[in-house]
Amino acid sequence: MVFKIAFHALKTAFKGLSLTVKHLFGAQKARQELDITKDHYFDNQTGIATVQYPKVKMPIPEVARYQLDVEIDDCIVCDLCAKACPVDCIAIEAIKSPEVIGKTSDGSVKRLYPARFDIDMAKCMYCGLCTVVCPTECITMTDQYDRSSTKLTDLIYGFSDMTDDQVAQRKSEWTKFQAEKEAAKLK
Ligand code: SF4
Ligand code: SF4
Repeated sequence: MVFKIAFHALKTAFKGLSLTVKHLFGAQKARQELDITKDHYFDNQTGIATVQYPKVKMPIPEVARYQLDVEIDDCIVCDLCAKACPVDCIAIEAIKSPEVIGKTSDGSVKRLYPARFDIDMAKCMYCGLCTVVCPTECITMTDQYDRSSTKLTDLIYGFSDMTDDQVAQRKSEWTKFQAEKEAAKLK
């Protein structure tokens, strides 16, 4: 019985060690960069599993869903993306305009100014729901994954292109428009 246990212990120890030694020698050569679209991509068992990032980067799939981007000129500030976001990491502030302010590239009419359009990428869980609901397809997931920072606030990406002065001016225009409308009603 004792011999049987000792034999089993030696056998399993040898098995574990041989695996360690195999990987020790396998790690002498760097893992080859493979095309991720090829069928044998995950069969590559030899070589080290990590790469010398950022000098060497692993290939990413064509359909990768990484950090978000917003083409603000095509945004109609409808807020649908913010409403769809399960973790509330999109913050939008819209300013109404008394008149049409332009059109997006797909012909949608723009009536709102994006005073604020922030996405907190530290909270984003990359689900892509915001991109699905966007009527103008201006919010998209990109292949960019490396914008690491030591400050959490750096991960709040601002996409509004309005200056503080422009925001103040547009707000004042809307307030004036509303006041004139109310005054006209009282006449
Ligand atoms: S990808 Fe998901 S979690 Fe990230 S902003 Fe869009 S809806 Fe929110
Ligand atoms: S859903 Fe699209 S158009 Fe609407 S606010 Fe979001 S990014 Fe802009």
